[in-house]
Amino acid sequence: MNEEQFLNMLDEKGIGFIITVPVPLGYQQVLLKKDQVLEYLADKYSVLAKCYGVSRSEYVTWLDQDMSVQCCATTVKGKRCKNVITGGLHVSVEQWVKSQGLLCDLHEEKGK
Ligand SMILES: [Zn+2]
Repeated sequence: MNEEQFLNMLDEKGIGFIITVPVPLGYQQVLLKKDQVLEYLADKYSVLAKCYGVSRSEYVTWLDQDMSVQCCATTVKGKRCKNVITGGLHVSVEQWVKSQGLLCDLHEEKGK
């Protein structure tokens, strides 16, 4: 029996494929379809990104940035400002993607 046949057998017996994924301030359980299991084992971020309707790189960056939206301005030293924008601390990946390009209070103030 290969992996696919094994998964089919589990599926036919009503055994589901539930993963636990990190979300702001906790975890969420996501039900994978049978067809997603092997892809998930090969590249979980790819499957999770599709679940949330974002790109793989967006998903990975969201995790890297502690699920928080960083300011997109460049500091006087020429580095990327890493201040978290107002309301941008620990947000969902969908909200994180929508909030890209926003500025922290300091840079917002400078731009006026
Ligand atoms: Zn800033």
